[in-house]
Amino acid sequence: MPDFRISGSQEEALVQGPRVLVTGATGLLGRAVCSEFQTGGWMVIGTGYRRARPRFLRCDLTDEDAVRRLLHEYKPDVIVHCAAERRPDVVERHTEAAVSLNVHATSTLAKEAGVCGALLLYISTDYVFDGRNPPYGEDDSPNPLNVYGRSKLEGEREVQRHCPGALILRVPVLFGEVESVTESAVTALWLTVLEATEESYTLDHCLQRFPTNTRDVAAVCRKLAERARQDPSIRGVFHFSGKEQMTKYEMAVAMAQAFNLPSNHLIPMTEQPPPSTPRPMNSQLNCSRLELLNLSVEQRPFASAIGDCLWPFTPDKRWRQTVFH
Ligand code: NAP
Repeated sequence: MPDFRISGSQEEALVQGPRVLVTGATGLLGRAVCSEFQTGGWMVIGTGYRRARPRFLRCDLTDEDAVRRLLHEYKPDVIVHCAAERRPDVVERHTEAAVSLNVHATSTLAKEAGVCGALLLYISTDYVFDGRNPPYGEDDSPNPLNVYGRSKLEGEREVQRHCPGALILRVPVLFGEVESVTESAVTALWLTVLEATEESYTLDHCLQRFPTNTRDVAAVCRKLAERARQDPSIRGVFHFSGKEQMTKYEMAVAMAQAFNLPSNHLIPMTEQPPPSTPRPMNSQLNCSRLELLNLSVEQRPFASAIGDCLWPFTPDKRWRQTVFH
């Protein structure tokens, strides 16, 4: 039997509206979305699963009854659906569980959002594209290369089928405030940067990426939700992305430079590695739809934003004085 006991702060939040339900509130993006809506004066109800307690509601989104009860009990005005299995290699290995969360749970949420009249904002990915012909507009044909991309695209289709007024926001690789550096594919590179020994480390210098700050994505989510509540013509697919094109090698060098660390142990790998899970070469997103509607946000340069995220993971805090003061 699912248990939706809530913490004191969430109880208070339920007294007033408008209310936003954030799924995946314990995750990298969900945490930023919760704080953005809270700052904006929204009443935030966050759900998580394994890490839910004590701050958030625990709800297994793959349990249809639990989802139904959750929405009927809390009657959100807006749902920001962040929860997903987003690690492509894990999705290839545990496809059934991933599809259950990325597709079936999304379908249930969309049906129930339709019943409750809640505005649904579904977070999707640039991996719905094959990366052969960038940049991609919202209306360009998706052609995902891996199971993760296919599952997110199927999630999009379930959302559109059950909730025609819903919003879909596609974003590329994310970084932000992390609980551990391995939580984001971007901050995970920090471990290699710190390995400044005699040994050299090769890093991919083929796949083109656009690292995007979760804070900026969260701000776009709030703007989109607030505008769509006033104007029902704001619906369908939107793209948002960081503007700096970088390979993993370039991201790692930028991190080293941000902390005055050596980077000569990092070697750019210009030949594609043997295929593991296929990934798009360059799935750059054209974000003009958001920009034309004035729903985008100013973004900080990668070098300074990543410095803030890695700050708690610097082994030698003397860098604080030498670099930033
Ligand atoms: P994340 O950090 O891996 O978080 C995943 C979230 O899903 C966690 O809050 C987790 O809760 C929750 N969850 C897992 N299984 C669940 C279940 N059975 N029932 C309910 N909740 C469950 O993911 P993220 O990086 O924040 O990604 C957010 C969204 O952005 C996803 O839709 C993803 O596809 C998309 N996206 C991410 C990236 C990226 O680079 N991270 C790039 C493009 C798009 P617990 O941890 O509490 O179990």
